Amino acid sequence: KHQEQRTGIALLPPEVSRRIAAGEVIEKPASVVRELLDNALDAGSSSIDISWENGGSDLIRVRDDGAGMSREDLLLCWQTHATSKIRSLEDLERATSLGFRGEALASIAAVSDLTIESTMKGQSSGHRAEIRDAELQRLQPAPPRPGTAITVARLFANMPARKRFLSRAQNESQAIRETILEKAFPFPEVRFSFPAAGGRQEVLPEQTLLERAGQIFSRICPPQSLTQLQGSGEGFSCTVIAAHPEVIRRNRKAIHIYINNRRVTEFKFVQAVEYAYQDVQHGGVFPVAAVFLTVNPELTDFNIHPAKREVRLRRAAEIHHRLVDLLRSHLRAFALRAAQWETR
Ligand code: ADP
Ligand code: MG
Repeated sequence: KHQEQRTGIALLPPEVSRRIAAGEVIEKPASVVRELLDNALDAGSSSIDISWENGGSDLIRVRDDGAGMSREDLLLCWQTHATSKIRSLEDLERATSLGFRGEALASIAAVSDLTIESTMKGQSSGHRAEIRDAELQRLQPAPPRPGTAITVARLFANMPARKRFLSRAQNESQAIRETILEKAFPFPEVRFSFPAAGGRQEVLPEQTLLERAGQIFSRICPPQSLTQLQGSGEGFSCTVIAAHPEVIRRNRKAIHIYINNRRVTEFKFVQAVEYAYQDVQHGGVFPVAAVFLTVNPELTDFNIHPAKREVRLRRAAEIHHRLVDLLRSHLRAFALRAAQWETR
């Protein structure tokens, strides 16, 4: 029988509670990259460069050319619940930004050495803030360079238990690359650059969604097998990238669902895609497809999961139906062709 040693209640010291809370948001190096990319995209960047060392444990750097931050912003941005994205609960209902909790930089600051260099659009000087153990060490002028560069060093150096649970650098690097591709998919107008496996530099140029899909799926299907479909209904619209039904996978991992530019693990919509392909694919195989839903934010609630992987959605059934219809009417052509083969 489990028996707790009762020693009386005490409030945890702030540096302890801070690290515990941070651990929920920042699980591994790829979580840092996820949060920094969200911020760079929210800042309206058109070009984002990512680099890291030793699987991200030693160093992660994300540089963007977005709106940038002022000196006052640099005093605040790394503090808990500091955000420029919402001001009230009503704003939360309407938020279309990727972030809004004001927790990411604070969480990163609690478990790493954080350096932020930023120049606000239209300003002739920049600033550099160094944050150690969640406290500002230094804030100095820096050369003006449009946008923001964030450096995260010695991740989890102050949380040895968490650090021990990190995987080999190679695996953490792979998780970072997957995060970048996941974030980049719905933003084909933004250029991304990062080190690919084997020392090469991978660049996702400014391109169309179909071209980006071709590049992201290049390892699993030829770009000419992809088609772009468009549909809409009351309060939502969707763009679907659908691969030729002859392109098959043994699992569901190549079915990507995005809601308002966030990848979600919404099984209902994964099933909708599978269901539509069932007329033209049989027997334990799965298609390659990506669904980008744009939904009136008032119909969504992303505030239930720190990584916003889950979403509550009203009118999900209607969206589901529309999605199946859209894919089916496209795939019907393939079904007809297959039938003609059979009767020939
Ligand atoms: P959130 O994104 O939820 O607002 P964060 O902790 O991620 O919270 O960031 C806090 C604030 O810092 C943001 O609201 C934004 O104003 C500012 N910020 C962070 N990163 C950048 C960036 N790359 N460019 C411009 N502003 C940024
Ligand atoms: Mg953020």
